[in-house]
Amino acid sequence: MNEKCYICEKGNLKKERIEYNLYGISLGKFDALKCPKCSEIFFDEETSKKMTDIAKQKGLWGLEAKTKIGQAGTTLDIRLPRRLIEFLKLKKGKEVNIHPESRDRIVVEISE
Ligand SMILES: [Zn+2]
Repeated sequence: MNEKCYICEKGNLKKERIEYNLYGISLGKFDALKCPKCSEIFFDEETSKKMTDIAKQKGLWGLEAKTKIGQAGTTLDIRLPRRLIEFLKLKKGKEVNIHPESRDRIVVEISE
């Protein structure tokens, strides 16, 4: 008997090999269960651990961080943590394009 989807509770989960990307970089293909109804994907604990290890090896771990908004004159600035700066290869003075994606999300586009 197939397992039902844990999210929509309608689809019967199917085994599939799925490529997993973190921050746009492939970690490889992994065994997963996929719901044909809502497309939700589930990885088991062992697979999740393996994915975490690969992410660490590729330097993709710990890029999410809390930071604070500071003030410079009449404008505000956001401090970027060292790891993120290195991952994105950012330098002082580099021009980026910013826009809100919603009321609680900012997109910063970095041109090459
Ligand atoms: Zn589902």
